[in-house]
Amino acid sequence: MLRRTWVIVLAWTLLATAWALAGESKKCNLSTQDCLDQMATKMKTYGWVGVELERNEETGTLTVLKVVPGSPAETSGIQPGDLLYALNGVRIIKDNEEALTKARKDWKPGQTVNYTVKRNGADRQVALTLAPMPADVLARYIGEHMLEHATADLAANKEAINKEAATK
Ligand SMILES: [Zn+2]
Repeated sequence: MLRRTWVIVLAWTLLATAWALAGESKKCNLSTQDCLDQMATKMKTYGWVGVELERNEETGTLTVLKVVPGSPAETSGIQPGDLLYALNGVRIIKDNEEALTKARKDWKPGQTVNYTVKRNGADRQVALTLAPMPADVLARYIGEHMLEHATADLAANKEAINKEAATK
């Protein structure tokens, strides 16, 4: 499967962390408590756009699937189906991963960022001001990730029990 859906705010956070969120294949190596602390701290200070995106794994291009009502993305006029073509002048493609990470370095609430968006073949410039992540969105992301921890912990427990049973 070449395409999968993920949430941009997380994927961008993930570039620099060990978190395994929203379908990322990387495993999270933190303990449940450490992870929870880090997520709560980091995500509170992280700038929120309010889009869910589909990423083409081959090319690295991003297409908007959903725009969260009341988000900076909605205010700026971004619509589902838009292709996010460039961020602050940097083409959003796989080869530019490093430059994009730099462009997202100070990804904080209050910061203004500029996207070039392609819609029906036409370019449009979109400026938006990153917002703090709403509490319910934050809670949902953390909840989903903690579920992954719970599943992993459960699997580890089962394995330990099976091992013990096998040695008896
Ligand atoms: Zn974790």
